[in-house]
Amino acid sequence: MSNATAGGPGRIAGNGAVVARAPAKVNVHLGVGPLRPDGFHELQTVFLAVSLFDTVTVRRSAGLSLEVHGEGAADGAVPTDARNLVWQAAELLARHAGVAADAHLVVDKSIPAAAGLAGGSADAAASLVALDALWGTRATRGDLAALAAQLGSDVPFSLLGGVALGTGRGEQLSPVLARRRWDWVLGIAGEGLSTPTVYGELDSLRAAGELPDGVAAASTEPVLAALRSGPVGALAAALSNDLQAPAVRLRPELREALRAATEAGAAAALVSGSGPTVAALAEDEEGAARLAGELAGGGAFRAVRAVHGPVHGARLVG
Ligand code: ATP
Repeated sequence: MSNATAGGPGRIAGNGAVVARAPAKVNVHLGVGPLRPDGFHELQTVFLAVSLFDTVTVRRSAGLSLEVHGEGAADGAVPTDARNLVWQAAELLARHAGVAADAHLVVDKSIPAAAGLAGGSADAAASLVALDALWGTRATRGDLAALAAQLGSDVPFSLLGGVALGTGRGEQLSPVLARRRWDWVLGIAGEGLSTPTVYGELDSLRAAGELPDGVAAASTEPVLAALRSGPVGALAAALSNDLQAPAVRLRPELREALRAATEAGAAAALVSGSGPTVAALAEDEEGAARLAGELAGGGAFRAVRAVHGPVHGARLVG
């Protein structure tokens, strides 16, 4: 982890606003181990940051206040009070830096909520970077990563971006060099799925003997080797997600959505994280555009987005 400051007070625009953005993620491998005594599962996961971004704009103001716009804002899927991860990020950074938590935050969401794309984590990571600059806290990337891990298991990856192997509860990251670009289509469902509910369903299926215990998580080596250099078929064959079976059990229509993606020409399709977003792997950018067009007309998804990865993690814009 670099010791460079993440932002610094020099990045404040003329109107006093600081803007940062952070990406969604897809887990190209998600191996879920046993439940730990602290209530978390031991994970072996490979994260890929993809080009669907939320933006957080912060300004100085007395006390904390928050506005949320875009995906999930109108239907109340995203809280606008202390339950929002960006609020928690602001309080945590202020405490760490010994400054007053004085800021107005505006979150512009493109990443749907409760979709398995780590939208809340992206917002938290972008807030840390933006507020560090606004308040001039001069936190290092290492400091911000430690704060991110306190906010949620996926927040450190939202900060880092790119490709990374995640262990522990997903917060212990080893960056992976992956030079080639991967094109995907995200198939977004009408209604979100709660991450704890999906883990609970996995535990039930394992306890009932309907799924094998997650003691020996499959090796991440094939997926890492495929990510580094391809070809697309190798990555397609190596994709795996232990949360897919419980997500499909909770949302049986996901089975049809996955089939729709492969029938429309995806090299492979899997549930992203805890779902219900379907991540469909395309041959290339053109293939993704074609696939997106096909799936948009098909009715299996509320919305589709052609994206690519790896992309950078949370950073200042402008
Ligand atoms: P995971 O990181 O577990 O994959 P997810 O991507 O499925 O999560 P999020 O979009 O992060 O889900 O949201 C999960 C829940 O967190 C939401 O239902 C909402 O109640 C709460 N939440 C808190 N802050 C935010 C935020 N900034 N954006 C979206 N949801 C938020």
